[in-house]
Amino acid sequence: MLANHDIFSAIEQTAPRYLAEDWDNTGLQIGSYSNTVNRVLLTLDVTEAVVDEAIDKKADLIVSHHPFLFKGLKSINIDSGKGKVIQKLIDHRISVYSAHTNLDAAGGGLNHYIADLLEIKSIKPLVPSDADRLYKLVIYSPVDATDAILKVLGENRAGSLGNYSHCTFRVTGKGTFKPLTGSAPYIGTQDQIQTVSEDRIEAIIGIRSADDLITKIKAVHPYEQMAYDLFPMDQSVSRRQNGLGIIGELEEAMMPDAFITHIKNKLELAAVRTTGNPPKQIKRVALCTGSGSDFITTAKVQKADCFITGDLKYHEAQTAEESHIWVIDAGHYGTEKKAVFLLKAIIDNAFDDVETMISTKMRSFIETH
Ligand SMILES: [Zn+2]
Repeated sequence: MLANHDIFSAIEQTAPRYLAEDWDNTGLQIGSYSNTVNRVLLTLDVTEAVVDEAIDKKADLIVSHHPFLFKGLKSINIDSGKGKVIQKLIDHRISVYSAHTNLDAAGGGLNHYIADLLEIKSIKPLVPSDADRLYKLVIYSPVDATDAILKVLGENRAGSLGNYSHCTFRVTGKGTFKPLTGSAPYIGTQDQIQTVSEDRIEAIIGIRSADDLITKIKAVHPYEQMAYDLFPMDQSVSRRQNGLGIIGELEEAMMPDAFITHIKNKLELAAVRTTGNPPKQIKRVALCTGSGSDFITTAKVQKADCFITGDLKYHEAQTAEESHIWVIDAGHYGTEKKAVFLLKAIIDNAFDDVETMISTKMRSFIETH
């Protein structure tokens, strides 16, 4: 029997929670980690119609891309709106889980999925994720404490490079210090300059793990004041393909009209909006699903022939025109509705004994006539 947390873990293998933006609210929205799950309903948004569908289809869990709870709730009025939906969910023991900006930013996430659909190759993140930025941690330790520190580094996956783990470098040298009044030195005596044999230990770490790792090393480091440095590394050595948006290339350049038809076919859209002058041909394409207009100039700087996104506002279109980049607004819903297929594939690949269903009630809140 599977529990909800099994499904959450499978999704987070692809879309780790640390990739979510600080303002976001990903993960369990309502319900339970431990409830048994047999049927999962996948949707872009959690609406009352989708919850009614989940009840009809006897789903135990709804997995959505957009968080069900986003802004803080000050009251839960069960007569209407969100409160009514919350009551229905609790009455029917249906949990809701959302994978939002972590799914957007993940290497195997939504932007990569849409890029694959659009047959964009050689994909790189448009803005590589800070969360993956690598740092070099350098620790100075008395020689007899080195083994304990190496053990902590290894156990916490510091020094992971490609198919290698426990990658460290060390060199032994001489450290000096003078314990002042009020100190309790591990070696030496107060007011006398000490020279000790110390190891300089180096390992590459991800910035998200830095605080936790340094706390653990301090616990085994004998000095009252542990000396260490943390140096940022060139982001080109980032371990993963995580980041905001993607940029890549079409195998064969396409004419602008043909490219629009291609997008409409692949994303199943009736129409798209464009802004700026189309280039002669489209080869290099940037994409940011959802509301990506913040990255218009980033796409231009990275020499994209066009930028595909959603939710373009009028004055952002002006910026695009002034930046001389052709922007295709395929809509927020249009660029994200396929997220349900990605989430379905993640769950189906991980488990045989859970039924996944795509909502037939999900729809765009904006209609085109
Ligand atoms: Zn969105």
